[in-house]
Parts: sequence; structure tokens; C-alpha cells
Amino acid sequence: MVVPTPSSPLAALIRSEDGDDFLPSKVLVIVAHPDDIDFGTAGTVATLTDHGVEVVYGLVTSGQAGEPADLSPVDLAELREAEQGAAATIVGVSELHWLGFPDGAVVADLELRKAISRLIRIVKPDLVITQTPERNFERIYAAHPDHLATGEAVVSAVYPDSRNAKSFPELLDEGHEPHAVSRVWLMAGPAGSTNIHVDISTNLNRKIEALMAHDSQNGPRADVLPNMIREWAAANAEASGTQWAAVESFRLINTE
Ligand SMILES: [Zn+2]
Repeated sequence: MVVPTPSSPLAALIRSEDGDDFLPSKVLVIVAHPDDIDFGTAGTVATLTDHGVEVVYGLVTSGQAGEPADLSPVDLAELREAEQGAAATIVGVSELHWLGFPDGAVVADLELRKAISRLIRIVKPDLVITQTPERNFERIYAAHPDHLATGEAVVSAVYPDSRNAKSFPELLDEGHEPHAVSRVWLMAGPAGSTNIHVDISTNLNRKIEALMAHDSQNGPRADVLPNMIREWAAANAEASGTQWAAVESFRLINTE
């Protein structure tokens, strides 16, 4: 594994408005559903893996409440896990963890916090990327209740659960030692909340390819989605104050 330094080429592709020069060496992305990663952060994932950063995915559900309606939840979960695996391969990710919670019924309870804490202790990332727990009324699809619950549980798992030996002592019995995550990046927050930006200009097409690997969900929108993604990336770039052409933006939380 290559550990980037602040002078590495990766540093030139990440801009923190607060001047934080932290660069990740191992990243865990945790989301509610298959394709959430590809809408929100696949361009960043591709940029990180291009520079030797290891990225691992954790998915709270298998998307078993999605389309098509005539497929059983079991068959749909199998299909969507395969689609997410293909999408991950496109952006350089091969390790995926499925937490098995029910799609459409995710709540930020202790059971979910424990499952995420266990995953954090297994993967030991220094950066966690997840969904914002804040409802964004301007983007109501991004503010799906499963997303908000996942974000809330992940932030709680980062601090304090996964670093505190007294949280979920049964995890210690399983052999999972406490682990402190240094930073969290939140996706899809309310306007004006983002403060860290990633140049995805060279990976925009891979992001779109990864998103379209979720054919069961996005195939029917293949005529409009690629342009929508390009417009979002350009709008993020414009708002970021950088000279980049395509950007994914996050809210950076220092949890040290
Ligand atoms: Zn979702």
C-alpha cells in the first residue's frame, strides 16, 4: 500500500477550504443502498485508488426494495449485490461488506451502530466517507430516510463507538480492538455545507460507467443520467472556487 504524503500528486487533487492537508491511506465508504456510492463519490474513489489508496465498501442494505417490482426481494438483493460488485471494479475496489439490514427500514439504532463499529474495527480506515445525516430539502431523493439513518449511525460509530473499548464490549470478545478514524467526509449535504473538494475530471466517465453498472435501477434512465451527472460535477466545480472541470464535494469532519 502506498501511503501518500502531502507533496504527493494526490494532494493536488484535493482542496480543503480549512487548509487541512490530511490525505487518507485507507478509506471505508459506508452507504445505505447499492448505487449510493456511485451517485455520490465514485469519482473520488477512482481518484483515490488511482493513487494507491485502498478503498473498501460497506453497504447497510442490499437494495432489496428497489426496482423492478416483479423481482422478489431475495433475487433483487442478489442482482444488486452483483451490480455493485461490477461498479466497484470499475473504480478500483474489490472488497465489499454487506451488512444485511432491511432496505426502506434503516434506523440509526444500537444494532446498526454496532454493525458499523464492527466493520470499522475490521477495516481500520483513517477516512470514512458516508451520507449526511442532515436532511437536504433541496435534494429530497438524496435525503432518503435510509441515507439519513445510515449517516447518523456512521457518525456515532466513528465517535465514540468504534474507538471506545467500553462501547459494545461484545466486539472485544469477538477480537475487534478499538480503532479511531481520523476524518469523516459527508456526501449530499445541504447547500453551503461542503468544505472539501476532489478533482474528478479524469475520472468522470468512470463514475458514469460505475453508475450505469446498476442497470436494474439506472438502465431506464440511461438517456438522461449521464448528462445529469456531468451537470452536477460541473456545478460542484463552479461552487468549489477551483479551476477544476468536474468535482465531488463533501463536508469534512475532523474526528481526532
Ligand atoms: Zn439510496
